[in-house]
Amino acid sequence: MRPISRIAGWASALIACADLPASAALPNQPVVLALRSLDQRVASVGHRLATANVAACFERQWHSGLLVHDLSQYSLQGRQEAAAAFGLDGGPAILAVAEGGPAERAQLRLNDVLLSADGAALPRAPAGAHGTFEPTEWIIEAIEAALADGRAELRIRRAGKEQTVRLIGELGCASRFQVVPSARRRAEADGRYVQLTSALIEYTRDDDELAALVAHELAHNILRHRTRLNAAGVDRGLFARFGRNARLFRQTEEEADRLAVYLMDKAGFDPRAAVRLWTRQSRDASPRAGNGTHPNWPSRIASLESEIRVIAAAKADGREPPLPAFATRLDPLSG
Ligand SMILES: [Zn+2]
Repeated sequence: MRPISRIAGWASALIACADLPASAALPNQPVVLALRSLDQRVASVGHRLATANVAACFERQWHSGLLVHDLSQYSLQGRQEAAAAFGLDGGPAILAVAEGGPAERAQLRLNDVLLSADGAALPRAPAGAHGTFEPTEWIIEAIEAALADGRAELRIRRAGKEQTVRLIGELGCASRFQVVPSARRRAEADGRYVQLTSALIEYTRDDDELAALVAHELAHNILRHRTRLNAAGVDRGLFARFGRNARLFRQTEEEADRLAVYLMDKAGFDPRAAVRLWTRQSRDASPRAGNGTHPNWPSRIASLESEIRVIAAAKADGREPPLPAFATRLDPLSG
């Protein structure tokens, strides 16, 4: 894998899931273009899950259905390649457009350069900034702020010409979706972001399996696990794998698994893909992966199966699948 650290590390203090052995290195093709196809998939799957499940969410936001990037988030080694591939010399630009989302409907396109939102110039990174995600985050926040009333006017530049685009947002669960280039298979959720590594996305065989991963992380955010684990005083360090800490982590992992199949079904993905994915992972993972902070594989798969049966039974009766009880009220975690 080329040393391209597109995003400078994970957002801090996330909930780590699916910590699996490293996969083969990324193929040495134009790395940034290979990554963009993953961004596209994650943007589309994330948008669909977040908006289809708006009724299940305690915290909502207007989604634009676009991912943005800025030259400053690329490492020194990756800058030239990114600038050449995406025309990022001219300012922040569109990295990915979610299928069927607001940006696509507004006919925004990949590589459109973003100039302003609701008349206010978008923040720019300090000259020479590299390997930092902070300026990109300012830009994301400016667009989300403009969209806070459900619509935003974006001034863009495409093929040298400026134009104004009216974006009509779509209400969904509050979360941002992000791909992190890495040869390790990891996914994390910190309450705000859902992050998946490139290696983990490449491990999925189709978008239903990708939806299983994104839905699991989105479920952590919907259920405010990060905040509730902190409120319960868990230890994320040496003692995470023991006693009460481990029980609370396992409880949140099981809840995320069970809510994930509900979210997948609601968004029109095949919930059985979660069983397929976790079954394959259980064969590939190191034997100790199920110990400690995550339930063991057979029990994870059994709880997915049981949730899928509940959904199927409701549908067979012509009823809406019921939201799992733990997701209807967020009580303090007690282990
Ligand atoms: Zn998890």
